[in-house]
Amino acid sequence: MSDDASLRAAVIEAARSLNPLGINRGKSGNVSARCAEGLLITPSGLPYADTHADDLVLLALDGTVRAGTLAPSSEWQFHCAIYRARAEIGGIVHTHAPFCTALACLDRGIPAFHYMVAKAGGADIPCAPYATFGSQALARHAVAALGRDVPAALALAVDVEALAEIYCQALQLGEPALLDDDEMTRVTGQFRGYGPRSAQ
Ligand SMILES: [Zn+2]
Repeated sequence: MSDDASLRAAVIEAARSLNPLGINRGKSGNVSARCAEGLLITPSGLPYADTHADDLVLLALDGTVRAGTLAPSSEWQFHCAIYRARAEIGGIVHTHAPFCTALACLDRGIPAFHYMVAKAGGADIPCAPYATFGSQALARHAVAALGRDVPAALALAVDVEALAEIYCQALQLGEPALLDDDEMTRVTGQFRGYGPRSAQ
């Protein structure tokens, strides 16, 4: 399998797993992988089960369509912008994960209520400001998990949604206690040097 074929397979596999993993509903998510010529991204408006490797759209990093018969995901602009800005990012998984979305509706990020928050790369997981979907404003209205490749981004999306679920449940009982900055710095450092699933 060529690099391009294996990247296409990884994108399709991730897209098809979003809903079974419980991190998306319907077809509102989108997945992309960086490739030699730019990025491969899921097409707009096609159910994942009916999406095949040839349906992915090849875009240059400036958004020019290089190959593909379908329109790219309506969120193509922020995928392109992230790859332009972050050379180390190889995969992006954008989902409307239910618990992350519930927190986003309250304009709440996820603070350091649990050491696993550090897995996302810092002491908290901020909530991006609202912006119209598909707009140049680079809205991340639920989760845009970034990783060195698509499987890493998918794993991070799953981890963040699990944290969002626990945080939502903890909020029902009261205001969760937070870990201090020293502890989160220590844990973040440990995750950076840790195993194949650690993501940027
Ligand atoms: Zn979206």
